[in-house]
Amino acid sequence: MEIKLVPLRCPACYEKIPAGERENVYFCPSCGKGFEVEKGEWREMEVVYASSREKPFVYLPFWWIEYSIKAKEKREEVEAFFKETAPFLFNALKEKKVKVWIPAFGTTNRYLLLDDIGLHFTLSPPEIKPGNLHPMKYGKYPLKEAVEIGKLILAGICGDFTVFERRLDVEFLNGKIVGIPFAREKGILRELLTGKRMFADAVEGVSL
Ligand SMILES: [Zn+2]
Repeated sequence: MEIKLVPLRCPACYEKIPAGERENVYFCPSCGKGFEVEKGEWREMEVVYASSREKPFVYLPFWWIEYSIKAKEKREEVEAFFKETAPFLFNALKEKKVKVWIPAFGTTNRYLLLDDIGLHFTLSPPEIKPGNLHPMKYGKYPLKEAVEIGKLILAGICGDFTVFERRLDVEFLNGKIVGIPFAREKGILRELLTGKRMFADAVEGVSL
């Protein structure tokens, strides 16, 4: 078995980062910078902490990933098709770009049942005002995995994976982490930007 050595100090400010076992994306509680760890290498990524008027119980990390999107062929026909079937993708084709929100935190089966906050944010993006850093739960999914999950979210919006693959050319452009504040109320986490609720136990490792 390979032994994973995780440095205990932030590579930027040298403060301690308490490391867990199941995470791959870390946020320094002192300087707020974010890092992915792959094969012992730490790679810094852009992190934005959304400001919140209410006092949050927890900040959860989301990937905010931008893709280029275009029709593979017969552009006008493809646009007409999506105008009818999936206006979100029609608009994305017009813009030639699309942004997808993907939870970076680990989720449980409970998430798969009901809480599709990634899809919710993708269809109705919250307005992000950058705020001060806040201790944030670590992420489970590194950028590479999130890029693939994001494509699945787009395929879900399309409704048919085969159609999605055949008609659309979707390429990763850039991605960053956005920290989203949540309040806690009776087994529910309420996101503080748009009020979207999700089961607290949909999030791996959040105890109430
Ligand atoms: Zn730091």
